[in-house]
Amino acid sequence: MAQEPQGRADGAPQDDCLFCKIVAGHIPATVVRETETTVAFRDINPQAPTHVLVIPKVHYPDASALAAAEPTVAADLLRESAEVAAEDKLESYRVVFNTGSGAGQTVFHAHAHVLGGRGMQWPPG
Ligand code: C5P
Repeated sequence: MAQEPQGRADGAPQDDCLFCKIVAGHIPATVVRETETTVAFRDINPQAPTHVLVIPKVHYPDASALAAAEPTVAADLLRESAEVAAEDKLESYRVVFNTGSGAGQTVFHAHAHVLGGRGMQWPPG
């Protein structure tokens, strides 16, 4: 049984969503980039010298749901991830989409983690 909330299927903001509140400017975040469709901000608990979250302004519970409903915005997350890496002058970096609580997802608004600036292991834990 899924532990995470189902979320809405229409992209509308949710009152109880932390990242919707960041998009709305109701919760502070260290924003590094913003486009018409996305916001990128530094993770509050960084796991690498660069750890930026790229989120869509629309609300979907995870990246797969976003891609199914709004594929161009899902592509924007990847494009913006590359821009974040370029701005931080990363020669290599990792983009992670935790999907589902078993994979470590804790915020059920689609987001890409952009991690870089240190060596990385494979497979991830
Ligand atoms: O993939 P997951 O859902 O676990 O990622 C959520 C991320 O959001 C965490 O890395 C957490 O540190 C970050 N976060 C944040 N700012 C907040 C709340 C959570 O950067 N205000």
